[in-house]
Amino acid sequence: MSVDPSVPAAEPLLQMALRVEQDIFVIRQRGREVAGVVGLEHQDQVRIATALSEVARDLLRTTDGADVTFHVDGGGDGRFHLRADLAPVTPLPDGRYEPQSGAVSRLVDTLSVMTVEGVTVVRMSRRVPANAPTPTPERLAEFRAELGRTAPGSALDELTVQNGQLIAALDEVRSQRDELAVLNEELAETNRGVLALYNQLTEELEETNRGVVALYAELDEKSAQLRAASESKSRFLANVSHELRAPVTAIIGLGRLLADSSSDPLTTEQVRQVGLIRSSAEDLLGLVNELLDLAKAESGRIEPDWADVDLRPVFGQLRGTMRALATRPEVELTVEEPSAPAVLRTDEVLLGQVLRNLLHNGLKFTERGEVRLRARRHDDRWNFEVSDTGPGIAPELHDRIFEEFYQVPGATRVGGTGLGLPYARRLVTLLGGTLDLFSEPGRGSTFTVSLPTGGA
Ligand code: ADP
Repeated sequence: MSVDPSVPAAEPLLQMALRVEQDIFVIRQRGREVAGVVGLEHQDQVRIATALSEVARDLLRTTDGADVTFHVDGGGDGRFHLRADLAPVTPLPDGRYEPQSGAVSRLVDTLSVMTVEGVTVVRMSRRVPANAPTPTPERLAEFRAELGRTAPGSALDELTVQNGQLIAALDEVRSQRDELAVLNEELAETNRGVLALYNQLTEELEETNRGVVALYAELDEKSAQLRAASESKSRFLANVSHELRAPVTAIIGLGRLLADSSSDPLTTEQVRQVGLIRSSAEDLLGLVNELLDLAKAESGRIEPDWADVDLRPVFGQLRGTMRALATRPEVELTVEEPSAPAVLRTDEVLLGQVLRNLLHNGLKFTERGEVRLRARRHDDRWNFEVSDTGPGIAPELHDRIFEEFYQVPGATRVGGTGLGLPYARRLVTLLGGTLDLFSEPGRGSTFTVSLPTGGA
């Protein structure tokens, strides 16, 4: 709503005189009517009417009365204001006016004493709401006509209206107070709920924390037990195999003595039996030695002897020693010479043991085809592949064959202890590498040892 500058401020909407006590009621009543006509809301009508009657009472007490005029004019804020001027008929004491009740100035937007064209007036104003009809000159004329039609009522009428307003205001205050009480109660209820929830959450959190702490303690305890169990197993293996080595070696020696040509001659049957004792004792010694190796590797008593190892002589040596084991004519052993330079920082003896073990297995389990060893460099790693065209291993057993004493059912007839692969994996781990298997039944197996070029 924009302010129409053509709105004349000169012609008042209404004017009246304040001379006697009775006039206060009339001014109050008419003030409310003017406020209603220009579009002030009910509450604001009551406010301005109350302010008018208070100021009128003050002026009647301190002067001989006043001339009261009402205008609508545009304010600096782009909105219209209802303005009431009370011009005292005799000068204000000291030319000043201070309302008797301090609350009066809070009922209106402005309340001040000013001099307009040489006349001192007490002026109050209240903003007309934005949704009220724009006070065009025509509409102002209508307002004036409307106000002219209504005659001022008696003091008693105004008192009745005032009482009604007071009761309505009291009712409103009461209902607001009741609403506030309900709201407060709801708020307190919500607060109690939030507090209970918070307490519950805190409790649950503490409970969970206690659970987690207990779980960790249990986990620590279990892993300590596991470590202790593994250590005692290694100790047991080492002790037993160590104790067994001497008597088994003695049995082999005695068998050799018995079969010696310088000893008393044996019957053919005795020779056969002594031969059996010796081969059993040699198998036993093999097992005892493997157990000892594994126990040593597990207890961390093997310290790799790091050196720059040229792979080509290592492979040459392996070709030589393994050829002796490749007894089947249907199986070809191929050791591929790695291309130069093939140098790796590792422990030559341990690496030799691992590759020998894998080649030995390949030769043991492959009935026809080939067993092949090759080494290839990938970035900062050397990969050694031992592949064969043997029976292959079902995927679900790929982990199990690395467990101690595990042998794939049916494969036992070719001999062995089930300790070779766990030992090989231990050694590879010591060398900072990994030992993995790729195999499927009927498609052969490939064991891959992957070692870092620069050592562990
Ligand atoms: P061992 O050879 O003394 O039985 P290992 O630990 O070396 O013990 O091997 C465990 C088992 O894994 C073997 O008994 C065999 O069942 C299976 N296995 C190992 N290497 C091969 C292979 N190249 N081809 C097929 N099966 C194999």
